[in-house]
Amino acid sequence: MKRLILGLFLLVFLPLSANEKIVALTFDDGPWLKQTEKILKILDKYKVKATFFVLGCQVKRYPEILRKIVKQGSEIGNHTYYHPDLTKLKNKQIKKEVLETEKLIKKIVGDSVKLTYFRPPYLSINKRVEKVLNSLGYKVIMQTIDSNDWYYARKKDGSKLIVKRVLRLIDKSNKDKEIIVFHDGGGNRKATIQALPIIIKELQKRGYKIVSLKEILKN
Ligand SMILES: [Zn+2]
Repeated sequence: MKRLILGLFLLVFLPLSANEKIVALTFDDGPWLKQTEKILKILDKYKVKATFFVLGCQVKRYPEILRKIVKQGSEIGNHTYYHPDLTKLKNKQIKKEVLETEKLIKKIVGDSVKLTYFRPPYLSINKRVEKVLNSLGYKVIMQTIDSNDWYYARKKDGSKLIVKRVLRLIDKSNKDKEIIVFHDGGGNRKATIQALPIIIKELQKRGYKIVSLKEILKN
């Protein structure tokens, strides 16, 4: 009988575990003084890693914070130098935005840090821009869940609104793989920082494993 129960247990639960729900956390527009470091501390506390889509102009300002991201074990992605809408730029200008950022990042953290992920500013992209990015060796990473944290940052109870939105969208989407976009830079991100631990705990409660982009993109 015991063996039968064990057999049934394996039959029911093994396929489920093979279909594990995974989620990647991403942060745009940094590095940003204090805010990025606070986020890194939260990630450390919950033993998770994220991907930071950094801007060249911010990296230039805060190279030390970029080093801290790498030290924490999170990944770095390219988010251009000055945050332009790439669909409005010529190919040559797009390349300049991307390659200058790449050069600067590599100068600070070394060649060993792989730069393969790119997120377009304003999430604005078209086929032409994507082709240019691919020709530079980048994979465009969009989002499945947009936290809208930059918008809620100005609202009273902004952190609660961010938590509510992310969890509502996650429940509604009900996919096995999600990529959530937040912002560590671009303005005051107090609401994002307050929302983050609650979101991490709730995602884990819902059975999501927080993983790197590499793992999300594997299959
Ligand atoms: Zn951005």
